[in-house]
Amino acid sequence: SAAIQRAESLIVSIPDHPQPGVTFRDVMPLIADAGALRAVVEEMLRPFAGQYDVIAGVEARGFVLGGVAAGLAGKGMLPIRKEGKLPRPAGREEYALEYGTAAVEIQADVPAGTRILLIDDVLATGGTLAASVALTRSLGLEPVGITTLMELDALGGRSKLGDIPVHTVFHE
Ligand code: IMP
Repeated sequence: SAAIQRAESLIVSIPDHPQPGVTFRDVMPLIADAGALRAVVEEMLRPFAGQYDVIAGVEARGFVLGGVAAGLAGKGMLPIRKEGKLPRPAGREEYALEYGTAAVEIQADVPAGTRILLIDDVLATGGTLAASVALTRSLGLEPVGITTLMELDALGGRSKLGDIPVHTVFHE
């Protein structure tokens, strides 16, 4: 649609950020635009209608998109946080970075068996979302899908995510 095309034009590529040789996709101008924000979040949710109970957004831009998505869908929102931020973490999952490791954490604020739709802004290497899926499963939650605003196809992140359905609005 025209709104989705306009939304894509609002994503800015920043060369050599955060490191030389890396091109960072800055989605903040899209998020700042009311029509673009609504159009992309509706498109992120569309394939999963009726399939999830709660939206889990990955820190930090996944909190923004996930909060908007939860509001539009009439669902609650479960934050998946970088380690050390939550007061009552119930689970923790480590994942590899280029150098070293990081971890995501979650609270047990929804019951086991809750159907979870995971949301983030960018699917890059897939490490963060793969760990997030494992984390929800470790608490007995049921991840039913992953939806992202953007996927960097050349990094092959989708191959790390197993057979869970993955939907993305913009590919690069
Ligand atoms: P991955 O674990 O390599 O897939 O990286 C995904 C995480 O890093 C997500 O939480 C993204 O927010 C962030 N990320 C990676 N590359 C970009 C980018 O180009 N723009 C914005 N966020 C990015």
